[in-house]
Amino acid sequence: MLKIEGLTAEVDGKPILKGIDLEVPAGEIHAIMGPNGSGKSTLSYVLSGREGYEITGGSVSFNGVDLLALEPEERAAAGLFLAFQYPVELPGVGNALFLRTALNAVRRGKGEPELDAMQFLKLARERMKALSMPEDMLKRGVNVGFSGGEKKRNEVLQMALLRPKLAILDETDSGLDIDALKIVADGVNALRAPDFSALVITHYQRLLDYIVPDKVHVLMGGRIVQSGGPELAHQLEASGYASVKAA
Ligand code: ADP
Ligand code: MG
Ligand code: MG
Repeated sequence: MLKIEGLTAEVDGKPILKGIDLEVPAGEIHAIMGPNGSGKSTLSYVLSGREGYEITGGSVSFNGVDLLALEPEERAAAGLFLAFQYPVELPGVGNALFLRTALNAVRRGKGEPELDAMQFLKLARERMKALSMPEDMLKRGVNVGFSGGEKKRNEVLQMALLRPKLAILDETDSGLDIDALKIVADGVNALRAPDFSALVITHYQRLLDYIVPDKVHVLMGGRIVQSGGPELAHQLEASGYASVKAA
């Protein structure tokens, strides 16, 4: 599914990723943990193709395709989804139109027919019902005046509509209360399937109580310095990243 080999990248001429090796097989959920400034967000931006991140070496293969050669829209069409740490607010843009536009862009990229407003509403209502989301979220401006939990719900809804092959959640749990955490976790767990993978990037262990990862990787100083099972997250919670440094 996802295979990263020797990936190095820099921002403004400053090396941030210093040789990442990571493999996420289809059907698995992997967590990436690490202290602030270790390069977690940089890795997710590099994978999504965000501007300003220069790849200086290595490769990323996604279902056999050279991911780094694709434009961001092509990556989305190939099934990549990135949930941001801080979702954008788009005043004046209705949420239904925003979600439909995002979905249709991906459908176009896949060569699937676009959905008209009625078809979209039917699908959105169905997916929202499954996630116990209130329908009025579709009528509001994108994330405008949404609470932290509502922004997360909206992101989970977007993910449920797009049904990505690989979802990257970058500290999507930061600042969330337990209820919102469960919304995110339920949304990810609902997508679990043999052809779905996720990279859950988090600073804290608590999200991983709800999304139990197959593997946990520790990113420090732009490198994966340790990998293990879910127990590694508990170990880090108990003894901190200093214990990894010493190892
Ligand atoms: P994390 O998500 O693990 O907290 P980041 O990937 O956000 O880490 O940042 C890794 C390092 O890259 C940090 O030292 C940060 O200061 C630096 N960095 C990130 N973005 C930029 C930027 N646009 N310009 C310069 N340095 C940056
Ligand atoms: Mg950070
Ligand atoms: Mg970050």
